[in-house]
Amino acid sequence: MLYFTKSKGDCTGCSACYSVCPVRCIEMKKDEEGFLYPTSSDECVHCEKCKKVCPIENPFGDSNNIIPQKAYCVLTKNKKIWKRSASGGAFSEICKAFGDDKTVICGAAWDGFEVKHTCVIGVNNIKSLCKSKYVASSAEEVFSEIKDKLNENKKVIFCGTPCQVAGLKGSLDKEYDNLLLIDLICHGVGSADVFKSCITEIEEQFNKPIIAYEFRAKRSTHQADYLSKVTFFDGSNKYITNDQYIQLFLKQNCLRPSCGENCRYRNEQRQGDITIADFKGLTEIFPNLKGSKRNYSSVIINTTKADSVVKKMLNHVKYFECEIDDIKKYNPLFFRQTWASKDRDAFFADYLADKDLCIKKWTTKSTVSNISIKRRIYDIAPVFIRRLVLKEEGCKHCEK
Ligand SMILES: Cc1cc2nc3c(=O)[nH]c(=O)nc-3n(C[C@H](O)[C@H](O)[C@H](O)COP(=O)(O)OP(=O)(O)OC[C@H]3O[C@@H](n4cnc5c(N)ncnc54)[C@H](O)[C@@H]3O)c2cc1C
Ligand code: SF4
Ligand code: SF4
Ligand code: SF4
Repeated sequence: MLYFTKSKGDCTGCSACYSVCPVRCIEMKKDEEGFLYPTSSDECVHCEKCKKVCPIENPFGDSNNIIPQKAYCVLTKNKKIWKRSASGGAFSEICKAFGDDKTVICGAAWDGFEVKHTCVIGVNNIKSLCKSKYVASSAEEVFSEIKDKLNENKKVIFCGTPCQVAGLKGSLDKEYDNLLLIDLICHGVGSADVFKSCITEIEEQFNKPIIAYEFRAKRSTHQADYLSKVTFFDGSNKYITNDQYIQLFLKQNCLRPSCGENCRYRNEQRQGDITIADFKGLTEIFPNLKGSKRNYSSVIINTTKADSVVKKMLNHVKYFECEIDDIKKYNPLFFRQTWASKDRDAFFADYLADKDLCIKKWTTKSTVSNISIKRRIYDIAPVFIRRLVLKEEGCKHCEK
């Protein structure tokens, strides 16, 4: 870690320091748990630029937030966009509203079984950035690229966790009208090494090598929060629920130390111009949406810049306005911490001793998700029939 960081819980790995070091003496190195931290070499000239840009030192910068913010429940009208998105496709629709075919869009993409922030050009080329990857993403290569593009007067959209957005803001020396920042309501990010160990465990369970993995898989009209899709080397696929990695992620056992109770970014004062998230409490807030075939996104306008972008987006999507208090009630990570994971230290102690044994000890096998005939009929049934079924049975249609 760098000289001014007191503990691992302080450093989010955002890489702002890395991107501004004038002598390039900072390296982002993985620790034994699989998280990136900056380290400086003897070539350091003690200029303190890294300290000045670090969001730990200045967590909220000069916030432009308009308080109270405005909140919407949003669903894309395009089924293909919905399918490739984690929730209602807000990210893709915001990109279309702000950008064009020359806009630079930066978000998290798979790189094998690691996740890296990557820049693509053009709003029609964002597919690789779509869908949540609940693994820590490295952004070290993109901050200086984004700065160059902004200075060339190109429009840029950056989407990431709030701490990454804070890092990018820290690494830029001024405000740019041509930059749109999108942050997420964030549960935390997990270790890429633990993720790969879980992939090995799933391979062992199914006795076949895996070549691709997708969080938040969707099939037909059905979506379940923690349905994943694995693609095997032989070309076959399996949909699995509550897999080994998801179990560890949800219990917060494999999260970065700066997440969990240490996160400084779960705050109404947001880092992004726009905050996106799952829309939680859908049928409680909008009873008319009971039986809905698709899940929706939350979109929260935090700045005046975002106001015009979101207004433009709303012309092309299905949406409902809601109160910020609805978001706070049903999705409290918007503004408050999670609990501290009591098992994290014990988990990582086991992990460092023996990775394979540890995953076996701390998780149960993935459940294969098969869609029953009843479920298939429910999926294609009109919404009024789905509502009747829900009324009679409660929601018993989750896949198992
Ligand atoms: C690590 C993580 C934790 C989250 N926790 C919550 C939560 O607790 N509650 C909640 O309501 N929503 C959470 N979300 C947000 C949610 O999963 C969806 O991303 C959100 O609903 C937007 O979906 P969408 O359909 O609009 O767009 P999508 O197309 O699904 O949005 C994708 C965007 O997410 C970004 N992204 C994907 N993976 C990562 C990553 N590893 N690091 C940084 N950015 C990434 C991409 O850059 C892309 O721009 C989380 C997302 C991530 C990535
Ligand atoms: S700038 Fe980011 S990566 Fe560097 S020390 Fe600060 S939090 Fe860590
Ligand atoms: S003090 Fe200056 S030279 Fe040293 S690591 Fe930080 S930015 Fe680089
Ligand atoms: S929980 Fe906080 S520190 Fe962790 S990734 Fe999310 S915003 Fe960053």
